[in-house]
Amino acid sequence: MRTVMLASAVFVLSAMLAGCTNPAEGPGFDSNQPDRLVSGAQVTIAEVTFDECAWNLARLYAAQAMYYGSHNCYAPDIESLYQLLGDTLTCPWTREWYEVAFCGPDSFWIPCPNYPLHPGAGPGYYPPMKDLYTCRSQMRSIASSEAMFYGRFNRYGTMQEMLDAGLGPYMTCPGCGYDYIIELGYQTYTLNCPMPQHPSHGSVVDGMFSWE
Ligand SMILES: [Zn+2]
Ligand SMILES: [Zn+2]
Repeated sequence: MRTVMLASAVFVLSAMLAGCTNPAEGPGFDSNQPDRLVSGAQVTIAEVTFDECAWNLARLYAAQAMYYGSHNCYAPDIESLYQLLGDTLTCPWTREWYEVAFCGPDSFWIPCPNYPLHPGAGPGYYPPMKDLYTCRSQMRSIASSEAMFYGRFNRYGTMQEMLDAGLGPYMTCPGCGYDYIIELGYQTYTLNCPMPQHPSHGSVVDGMFSWE
């Protein structure tokens, strides 16, 4: 059952990524090996799901902090954390529950379940999400600058035009330090995180956020 779900998820995703021209189940495709690189144009499924897994881990990390606040120790079992969150989380790639792999008086470790290329979370090692949060909130504010620019000029603007119009500040992606990429169409815009390698932090198309 799991294999079937995975295979169809992979198919749908890669069909989306490849513009429906590149079915995943080509020669050599083995749905029992999720770490096989199933590629769209440039993006692999594993990379697409990395951020989402890190996001889950960030929530579990926060739940551990809450648990520690009220119990003065970390939760040794994942159920307590799921209870705190009011939600159960599974890795978007393996579709398995997370587990508290290690729990000591002042430490814990929660890895991605069964997929070593995904991150883990524990004190001193926050999942690599800080950049992602920052980048997305920056993209939010650039998107609202676009809305304001549109209000004034009846079209969207380039980053430089927005800066010239006083709609700043100048921001770069915290993950890579590069400028954001804005593509203007007729009455449309696309804002992309410039991270040269996937996963990037997402994109905004006409005010719609890729991560929502
Ligand atoms: Zn994972
Ligand atoms: Zn970014």
